[in-house]
Amino acid sequence: MYDCIVIGCGFAGAVVARQLAETRGKKLLIIDSRDHVGGNCFDRKDEYGICIHQYGPHIFHTNSKRVYDYLSRFTDWYHYNHEVVGKIYEREIPVPFNLNSLEMVFGGKAPELEKKLVDRFGEGARVPILELMNDKDDDLKEIAAYVYENVFLKYTMKQWGKSPKEIDPAVSGRVPVLLSRDNRYFQDEYQGIPLDGYTAIFEKMLAFDGIEVRLNCQGKEVLRVEPEGREKVYFEGKPFHGQVIFTGALDEFFDCRFGRLPYRSLDFRFEHYDKPFYQSHGVVNYTVSEDFTRITEFKYLSGQMDAKDTTIVKEYPMAYSGKQGEIPYYAINNAENDSLFEKYRDLVEQIPDFYLLGRLAEYKYYNIDAIVERALDLAERI
Ligand code: UDP
Repeated sequence: MYDCIVIGCGFAGAVVARQLAETRGKKLLIIDSRDHVGGNCFDRKDEYGICIHQYGPHIFHTNSKRVYDYLSRFTDWYHYNHEVVGKIYEREIPVPFNLNSLEMVFGGKAPELEKKLVDRFGEGARVPILELMNDKDDDLKEIAAYVYENVFLKYTMKQWGKSPKEIDPAVSGRVPVLLSRDNRYFQDEYQGIPLDGYTAIFEKMLAFDGIEVRLNCQGKEVLRVEPEGREKVYFEGKPFHGQVIFTGALDEFFDCRFGRLPYRSLDFRFEHYDKPFYQSHGVVNYTVSEDFTRITEFKYLSGQMDAKDTTIVKEYPMAYSGKQGEIPYYAINNAENDSLFEKYRDLVEQIPDFYLLGRLAEYKYYNIDAIVERALDLAERI
């Protein structure tokens, strides 16, 4: 019999499983509905030998030495500094919009504007676009209006089906106006891509005494919670008294009994080109045109710069409907959806030793490092 059941084999589940096995000697089963480990971080070589991220670009970045050191047990790193440009008509400007972008857009007026920005917010500041828009100064308002219109509005409409003013401000705040000349997308101390890919991390992490991996298996197939009100957990039909760490979509686990939790999904379309490079940077954001939000060219991420040809992916956002094959990528956090989530969360709060972890299970926007940290904390707490 198992001490713990872990549902979901992404970073949340894999880290917690490894920690419980290694530091507590637990015997556990980790399951995933997909036919591979790694969740949305799964990557693989495509038929041309380019390492692609099957579920969209994942660039690791963190200021947490604890997280970096922990993952470094399982991988070496390609020290990639991610840079993104926004394609605004015929021009490509650094995103986040920074002092270099300012110069490209405002030309001769840029030094004066830069001084105003730095005097107001300080050098190196990260100013959320919605905050900049509220400024009283006409020049700062003009910058904000340009950035809002040309960087955020169309991209966010595509990504979320709503304007930046209508969504959780934390989402647009992820990509601030940056008062520096650092063109990198992230300013974190540690950043990079696992040298042999993400999937290899998961394989190493899970190859440990006491961990059994079961793929192609839905949580609901093996785990049942009943009866309502006096919740007990059943594993394969028998009462289960160990810990359950659940990282999947909670509404679906409970058959959407209170209604579906809304998520955004993405349609990834891969293309291969028989030429060395497709675009100027690892990611180009299409902030004023096209139906896709961004194009990722994987060789920049993997460091396969000498490959003679190249693979890209275009991301087309869409609503998640729950249809077979669709994947929920992003929670849509707002008061209404969060209170629906709480109804589901209340169901599991009655159950001893049932833990929720991760983007789906916690209905929250987490980066890789944040979820690794939470998984380490949870394993310590259990
Ligand atoms: N965003 C935008 N334009 C950009 C980049 C980001 O409008 O060029 C907004 C958009 O709403 C997006 C959010 O900022 O969903 C967060 O961007 P991030 O790159 O962090 O998204 P992720 O990589 O997590 O999809």
